[in-house]
Amino acid sequence: MKKVYNFSPGPAMLPKAVMEKAQHELLNWDETGMSVMEVSHRGELFKKVAEQAEQDLRELMHIPDNYRVLFLQGGATSQFAMVPMNLLGKNNKADYVNSGNWAKKAIKEAEQYGDIHVAATINYDGVANIPDVSSWQLRDDAAYVHYTPNETVNGLEFHDVPDVGDVPLVADMSSTILSRPIDVSRFGLIYAGTQKNLGFAGLTIVIIREDLLQEPLSGTPSMFNYQKQAEQGSLLNTAPTFNWYVTGLVLQWIKQQGGLEEMGEHNHRKAQKLYDFIDGSEYYSNQVDPACRSWMNAVFLLKDESHNAEFLKQAADAGLLHLKGHRAVGGMRASIYNAMPESGVDALIDFMRGFEQSL
Ligand SMILES: *Cc1c(COP(=O)(O)O)cnc(C)c1O
Repeated sequence: MKKVYNFSPGPAMLPKAVMEKAQHELLNWDETGMSVMEVSHRGELFKKVAEQAEQDLRELMHIPDNYRVLFLQGGATSQFAMVPMNLLGKNNKADYVNSGNWAKKAIKEAEQYGDIHVAATINYDGVANIPDVSSWQLRDDAAYVHYTPNETVNGLEFHDVPDVGDVPLVADMSSTILSRPIDVSRFGLIYAGTQKNLGFAGLTIVIIREDLLQEPLSGTPSMFNYQKQAEQGSLLNTAPTFNWYVTGLVLQWIKQQGGLEEMGEHNHRKAQKLYDFIDGSEYYSNQVDPACRSWMNAVFLLKDESHNAEFLKQAADAGLLHLKGHRAVGGMRASIYNAMPESGVDALIDFMRGFEQSL
């Protein structure tokens, strides 16, 4: 089999050990003579998988007891609507940070449901940085503040959790969840699609503080109702059982790696290596302030953009895949989630150095 490193932004590479275990158990799961895909989502067999996954997630993230964990469908994009539908409450106001491509989509969706105010905007025209929280125009009577801790497309990450006072903080952690330790108690709600750091596409994790399980906007579909989903243990309908199972395997793999402290060190080291190389090069550049460069998605430009196609072709020939930047921003992007080994980053740096020298 061809040796490749897959730098895809999502769906992204999975740890090999996870896929091997899933493969090994595919036809005879847990000595049942069946596949995990074939059993009832409400049966005793699957219940063990569901409960273990939640327990492992709670343990890894130190999720306090007054938070519920939901395993939903619809991706992070459904959360763009579910969050306002469930949390806007009576005064119908929420503040959003427009930090880039994904935040914009969250804002656009939320605007359908209430009075949405953009409290701060990140500008990507020059060197992008995060305006100090003291300059954010936050409203005391907002039902929540929404932000995107890691902007997957723009390669920008908030390395500190912003202090927004008593207003519940809502975070789209799709591309950074489980990449490092975080203090869950700082958040009212965290959501993430699983296809970057937690498994494959089709499952969405929501971690919600119990007091935010309230009556949603009238007309909210049951599937979109956090309260109902929490009451039913996320089993309002047939759950995406295989996704849930694979996410469980990913969580066990992270535990085996040493948990989030270890993941954080590993991810920081990988990202720093790549940024150090880019900063030391005349040919490659990164347009994000070093204080908020993403550990998960490193974006970079070639000095001569007319070399982009050749760069991508030679990279693919060398087994370095999916380095093309998002169509909205161009350039290159290396997504280096939890599952990307340090050897992948080393191989990328070697290739980039060689490409520059060959010009
Ligand atoms: C990938 C991504 C999304 C979109 O997720 P879907 O599961 O496709 O809806 C949303 N937000 C962020 C930050 C992402 O990285």
